[in-house]
Amino acid sequence: MSDRPLQPDPETYRRRPLRSWLRLALDTRRAARERPAAIAARQDARLRGIIEHARAHSPFYRARWASLPDAPHLDELPPVSKPELMARFDDWLTDPRVRLRDVEAFISDPGRVGELFAGEFSAWTTSGTTGQPGVFVHDRVARGVYDALMVTRTHALTEGAFLRALGKGLRIATVVATGGHHVSTSLVNVNRRRFPALARRIRIFSVLTPLPRLVAELNAFDPAILIGYPTALDLLAQEAGRGHLRGRPALVVVGGEVLTADARGTIERALGAHLLDLYAAGEFPGIAFSCRFGRLHANSDWVILEPVERDVSPTPPDRASHTVLLTNLANRVQPIVRYDLGDSLTVSSASCACGSPFPVIEVGGRRGDVLRFRGVDGREIRVLPLALGTVVEKTPGVRRFQAYQTGDGELRVRIEPDDEADREATWARVADRVDGYLASQGIAGVGVVRDEAPPARDRRSQKFRSVWDARHRPDVPASPTGGKP
Ligand SMILES: [Zn+2]
Repeated sequence: MSDRPLQPDPETYRRRPLRSWLRLALDTRRAARERPAAIAARQDARLRGIIEHARAHSPFYRARWASLPDAPHLDELPPVSKPELMARFDDWLTDPRVRLRDVEAFISDPGRVGELFAGEFSAWTTSGTTGQPGVFVHDRVARGVYDALMVTRTHALTEGAFLRALGKGLRIATVVATGGHHVSTSLVNVNRRRFPALARRIRIFSVLTPLPRLVAELNAFDPAILIGYPTALDLLAQEAGRGHLRGRPALVVVGGEVLTADARGTIERALGAHLLDLYAAGEFPGIAFSCRFGRLHANSDWVILEPVERDVSPTPPDRASHTVLLTNLANRVQPIVRYDLGDSLTVSSASCACGSPFPVIEVGGRRGDVLRFRGVDGREIRVLPLALGTVVEKTPGVRRFQAYQTGDGELRVRIEPDDEADREATWARVADRVDGYLASQGIAGVGVVRDEAPPARDRRSQKFRSVWDARHRPDVPASPTGGKP
């Protein structure tokens, strides 16, 4: 590389947004045609930029890195975790206008979904795989990078798919957990506000809607692009296979959970659409995209992923890691440097037939089970892990939870309340809301049973799983003492 790698520069971006964005997009497109060494050069330069910025403007990192040299190597930087960063939020962020109290007030107002915080920042919350909520704030350059990655690197959006999508009026359906500032809802709404002409074409559907009604609503809307969680779209694809879901989108985008080969097959077959799988997190919304061979490539010019063992030593290629440390090279307002993401990651040593210079990765540990109960009329009714999870997690007072099915008529729930003194009242609210949700799905006769054990990681995989079917996963045991009926 002869010229210096392009650096994120919020000030230039503010003054000349279009020009700056085009430069980002061109650089992002060019990187995909270069060798791994050129991508490594971008990583190095951007990492140095992030470190300098964090040292100058984040009291948290300044103190944390005080004894380190001026230009530390990545592996010299101590890893950070969500709980410690959230506990020091105001010291962590690099802009004094962004205070946790204000961001939380902003996020908790459903009327402001899609607005920019302080007129400038995207903000959203996510539970991620560790179960503890995080608050993430992204500056305008970071948003520009995420957009540029989507525009230049999503191979599933071929000319043919694009033309078909145009032919269907570019209607976009996003099937998400609505009602909060989650990544997908916020991104969609920000774009909806930015491009009013597009607004009428984007509709958000809730995974909490009973399946027959969701199918009817999607039939009426007939989307060109369908976006959602793999478990949700797998379920919808099965409805398409039965002839209930009629429209055929040009493009299907999945993310937020692991896409299994089974689910990929069902979705592609039944919906007859190109499928884009993306690995996204609140910390970085476009970590990796699938190529035309269906493999995930990490966008390593803008995000560094380090698969590591429990003792933080590097995991060799082709082996599943204990967790992964993520460094966001695009976002300066909330520096995320060697951050424990909690996902198990495998980096492939082999290159991919598609020719991409970006590393092939596989992600484990993000998928819950679809639960199956009996409806009042005896039919089987499926409950999505994400839908049930949203119901429990959004209950006031709940910090973390786990829910597992032990039989046709029993669902056990563990909770960790925000405030121990409020445990009884929190549990009463959870039981009430879960009962109400199951009833809204037409499910009757299910006992919602409290398990006094605290939410815990799976003993074998050490992953935190939120919702599972204990009848099919004897390896994810209930607490040693079992639940207390
Ligand atoms: Zn590939």
